[in-house]
Amino acid sequence: MSIRSLDFWTRRATELKPDGLAFIAGRFVQSASGKAYENRNPATNGLINLVAECGQVDVDGAVSVARAAFEAGVWSRRSPTERKRVLLRLADLIERDLETIALLESLDMGKPVQVAFSYELPDLVEYVRWFAESIDKIYDEIAPAPRGNLALIRREAVGVVAAVVPWNFPLDMAVWKCIPALAAGNSVILKPAEQSPLTALHLARLIAEAGVPDGVFNVLPGFGAAVGQPLGLHMDVDCLAFTGSTEVGKRFLSYSAQSNMKLAWLECGGKSPNIIFDDTDDLDAAAELAARVHYNQGEICSSPTRLIVQKGVHDAFLEKVIAHSRAYAPGNPLDPNTLMGSMVDAEHCGRVMSYIEKGRAEASLVLGGNRVTIGSSENFIEPTIFAGVTPGHIIAQEEIFGPVLSVLSFETEAEAVRMANDSIYGLMASVFTSNLSRAHRMSESLRAGTVAVNTVDLISPLVPFGGMRQSGNGRDNSLHAFEKYTQMKTTWIKF
Ligand code: NAP
Ligand code: MG
Repeated sequence: MSIRSLDFWTRRATELKPDGLAFIAGRFVQSASGKAYENRNPATNGLINLVAECGQVDVDGAVSVARAAFEAGVWSRRSPTERKRVLLRLADLIERDLETIALLESLDMGKPVQVAFSYELPDLVEYVRWFAESIDKIYDEIAPAPRGNLALIRREAVGVVAAVVPWNFPLDMAVWKCIPALAAGNSVILKPAEQSPLTALHLARLIAEAGVPDGVFNVLPGFGAAVGQPLGLHMDVDCLAFTGSTEVGKRFLSYSAQSNMKLAWLECGGKSPNIIFDDTDDLDAAAELAARVHYNQGEICSSPTRLIVQKGVHDAFLEKVIAHSRAYAPGNPLDPNTLMGSMVDAEHCGRVMSYIEKGRAEASLVLGGNRVTIGSSENFIEPTIFAGVTPGHIIAQEEIFGPVLSVLSFETEAEAVRMANDSIYGLMASVFTSNLSRAHRMSESLRAGTVAVNTVDLISPLVPFGGMRQSGNGRDNSLHAFEKYTQMKTTWIKF
């Protein structure tokens, strides 16, 4: 992918006219109340646009058109091959608009535009293609029934899916939920995070252009309590696909219980351990990967935020991690050389800084620790590392969701396992070792949805992703993602 200059991105940013209206029944519309909220760029504090502030009335309207489209079969009863063709067209359209989408994402939530443009979004295009291509290659089952009987086992679309997503990878999280759900034939209502509605609305434009019929895909921007909660409680929503905090994830379980027992799939928080054994082959490569905790401003649920290092290499390894972390100096997100942009907003920045204050009180600060002003915005934070952390410390237990690494040390393998599993979360874990038996022992012992050996936080559409314990349930990515958006039906035929 080619590099675009700071001038190029800055000029393109002034030319953009982002969508701000809700998308219901194939049309861009104001919220029913007429209310709209100010959407700001956290890297400048400048106003980007006004965004429709949806509520209960919009939710009811969108659910009813989504249901009607599902029942009419305009999408749900199209053949898998036809749905594939439409979604392949969508992938081409995302690719066509890559520059615009990268820029919208960067302006909305502060991430470095060139990183989104060169890496994240091209991967996302492949993701859409992979799910499109999968849908007409999945076969159902026939059970071994007694003679004279045929028992068919099919998976059918659940109906109306509500996707509620966070702001850290706005379009990725939307696509992870909506594309498999659409591929399977469902109608979908997407609620983006209040901080990052722009690419969700652009996606709506492209989904319509690709040929998904009106009413099948709807986007309701707005606030969690006003849009997320009524979707969660709605009696005619069949499935919730949520990515966000554990606290809000728990609410979705209770929304389901209080309403119609809708499926509630949750991808929640993490505090992922990254364990470095003395026998690691390439400590420098491991340190470079450990420093990726600062990638995306540290706003990643599966980030390796607890670095657990064996005593023999602790000091030397820490030096290397500090050196690699310096590459993540905060900068203008539109500068193609920037690796760390702005935090998503001032409130979140304040929350991360309050964890850094707690860290200063309980451990030793060895890098960063400061809030930084760039241009007209104070929403930047230096890459920050604390050493001498112990498992009971707040910064070893709670998800910070910022560029903050907590470093612990251990002597024995058993101690490393105990420390790693001392968490309410279980999303991801990493182990660095050259000992194959140890690698297998560790991957069996670590309580996480994914264990990475000699790497960190690998994600691919081909491989399931999701958490154990309070990191959630269900899996995004791979054919297993379809399990969330389909239900099993058995048909007995006697002959
Ligand atoms: P969040 O506060 O939980 O918000 C997620 C979504 O839920 C947003 O759209 C939010 O709307 C909505 N929401 C908030 N309160 C709600 C309520 N009472 N009822 C219904 N919906 C509600 O999370 P966030 O701050 O956006 O994102 C950070 C969190 O996401 C972190 O904990 C991170 O670990 C997690 N995350 C997990 C994964 C994963 O795959 N496991 C991936 C990325 C992020 P508003 O916009 O109004 O807040
Ligand atoms: Mg924004």
